This record gives sequence, structure tokens and C-alpha cells, in this order.
Amino acid sequence: MRTLAELERIASACVLCPLAETRSRVVFGTGNPKAELMLVGEAPGRREDATGIPFVGQAGMLLDRTLEKVGLRREEIYIANVLKCRPPGNRDPLKEEIDICRPFLDEQIAIIAPRVLAPMGNHAANLFSSKRLSITKAHGTMFSYKGIAVIPIYHPAAILYNRTLEPALVDDFQEIVRFLRSGARAAREADQLSLF
Ligand code: SF4
Repeated sequence: MRTLAELERIASACVLCPLAETRSRVVFGTGNPKAELMLVGEAPGRREDATGIPFVGQAGMLLDRTLEKVGLRREEIYIANVLKCRPPGNRDPLKEEIDICRPFLDEQIAIIAPRVLAPMGNHAANLFSSKRLSITKAHGTMFSYKGIAVIPIYHPAAILYNRTLEPALVDDFQEIVRFLRSGARAAREADQLSLF
């Protein structure tokens, strides 16, 4: 298996889809390569495209505040996006782009082997479920993906548009922390709690 650094080197030069023509930088992912919790966002925004680091804009600040509230630090988790390059104008990712880029994310997950995957928002959540999910209903629930517990959460950018969703994001992170600290085997517990 490749290392994360090797995979990042390959992704950084990727020109497999048209987003390579409009990006400034590939935003591969960041954090603890042995993280128990991996957050998966949708795609880089303007600030991320400029810096190469995921979640550094306003949504990132909100994410950091939420992590702090539940006793987590960025250094102990890993954050990546489904797409590694910014769609122009922050439009939604296209299915073709996701299909082409997804192997990078799958390999990141295989290398990191987290206990919990927390996809943020609809696009990310639907990568891990065979059924069509709506984040409004699926957030905070748990199901299994290749033996890893998946707990979808709202995308922090959605909270910026609708602040009434913020308590739900905090609650869902608290559930994630409870699960991580329970010491239970993730796959068994996720299978038992599977709602999908
Ligand atoms: S979005 Fe993914 S597939 Fe497309 S150029 Fe960037 S790294 Fe390659």
C-alpha cells in the first residue's frame, strides 16, 4: 500500500478531470495520518484553493469552534474533501468529477483506516451509502461502510446559511466523540446500529 505522502504527490500533479485547468492548488487533505476520526467535505472553496489546506475559510472557522466545543482538536483528526480541486464559482461537484476523483479518497480512507467517517453534507454522505440520503434526515445516524462506522453530519457551510442547524452539528459531534471513547469495535457497533 502507498503512503499518504506518496498518494499526495500523485494527486498534486493530477490532471484527470477538467478541474485541473481552473484550480490554483490541489487540496489533498490534512491532519493526523493515524486519525480515528476522518471528516469528508465536498470540495475546496476559494480560500482552500489558494492555500491548499481544507476548511480554512469561514466554514473552517466554524468547524474549528465546533471541534473545540466537543473537546476535539484538528491535529487529532484527518480532513479531506471528495474532490481535491475547486469547482469554478464553488458550484456543486459533478457526478463525473466525483467518479474520476473518488479513488484518491478511497485510498486515503484505506491508508488512514479511521474508526469513524463523518461525511459533511449530501454529496459526501451519499458516497458511502447505497441508498439516496438526505442530510436533513441522515445526520447523526450511523451505518457501516467497509467495516467503518459512518456518521453523516451537516456541512459547516450549511450552518453559515442557517444558524438554527448549529446545535444539531454540535450534538452529532458529541455522538461521534461518545462513540470514539466507548472503546467498542466500530464495525460491530455500526452494523448493530445500521439504519440503512
Ligand atoms: S478534482 Fe480530482 S480528478 Fe480532478 S484534477 Fe483534481 S485531483 Fe484530479
